[in-house]
Amino acid sequence: MSDHETIFDKILAGEIPCHRVYEDDHVLAFLDVNPLSHGHTLVIPKQRGAFLHQLSDDAAAALGRVLPRLCRAVMQATGATAYNLLQNNGRQAHQEVMHVHFHIIPRHGADGLGVGWSAGQLDHGKAPELLAKLHRALAEDADV
Ligand code: AMP
Repeated sequence: MSDHETIFDKILAGEIPCHRVYEDDHVLAFLDVNPLSHGHTLVIPKQRGAFLHQLSDDAAAALGRVLPRLCRAVMQATGATAYNLLQNNGRQAHQEVMHVHFHIIPRHGADGLGVGWSAGQLDHGKAPELLAKLHRALAEDADV
């Protein structure tokens, strides 16, 4: 687990203000200060950690429990009927703030997240080898 303090710790501690959308014992949601679209909302665990895979089951479950509700609220409040849920892990994945966060980004016409999607073709012949590695990794993960 990363011990590095980020700006989100300061928001959690109340040292930096935010426009709070929602809060419970494990989760805080607030408006993104540089929104990609009207209603762009961030959802963060109170547990400190840079990457999703570092979260405890409890923190992950708490996020999963409220995300759909928060998406519904963002849609209702903004009138959006489509949205992207974005969660960046690592600098290569465009993560700037090294504290886990989900972006709820409503689409209003052309506003919102631009997605580059350079898809390839799955090699079905090599898929079993990859599956074996994935199944082994899952079996070795005590939490699964
Ligand atoms: P990411 O690139 O996924 O790490 O995104 C970090 C997000 O945090 C960006 O969309 C920023 O606009 C947002 N952000 C950074 N500082 C603040 C802040 N003080 N209040 C609200 N949002 C912030």
